Amino acid sequence: MRVTARGHPPAAGNLLTLAPRPPSMSDDCIFCSIVDGDIPARVVYEDADTIAFLDANPLARGHTLVIPKEHYEDFEAMPPEPGEMVMAALHYLTPKVEDAVDAEATTVAFNNGEAAGQEVPHVHGHIVPRFEGDGGRPMHALFDSRPDVSDDELDDIAERIGADA
Ligand code: AMP
Ligand code: ZN
Repeated sequence: MRVTARGHPPAAGNLLTLAPRPPSMSDDCIFCSIVDGDIPARVVYEDADTIAFLDANPLARGHTLVIPKEHYEDFEAMPPEPGEMVMAALHYLTPKVEDAVDAEATTVAFNNGEAAGQEVPHVHGHIVPRFEGDGGRPMHALFDSRPDVSDDELDDIAERIGADA
């Protein structure tokens, strides 16, 4: 088994604290309904800002979703702080998910936006346990081909990304 660094829960003092419903919930969002307890879910972790539950249609045993409690459709809509809390919860839970199902690795990923395959428009990170020979593929297998990008274009793209960073 891989040796992993064990951190503390992202908000140790707030574990299982039921925070008041944030004002930004969406009435017709299935994940907001889970946050509110209006529809059932197998909740595995909760703090003031995030909640994690088993995926109802798992890609592998232990497939877990981590979401901010507030409703943000995608990364662009989400401020830095809830994003950091989601990342902290993913970091905390990933080794726990691996241990729970004896996985050798995990694919940790977001479908960010409809064009990327996001079906539920409430930010969620997937923790998908991986096993040697499980037939799953790496992220690079998402695409059958790759664009032919010149060095000049790479320079230009890097400059544009870095311009406001
Ligand atoms: P995505 O394609 O990234 O939007 O993934 C949405 C995920 O949410 C899928 O893996 C679904 O199986 C999962 N899902 C949808 N509804 C529920 C639900 N009520 N409880 C748990 N997982 C759900
Ligand atoms: Zn929502």
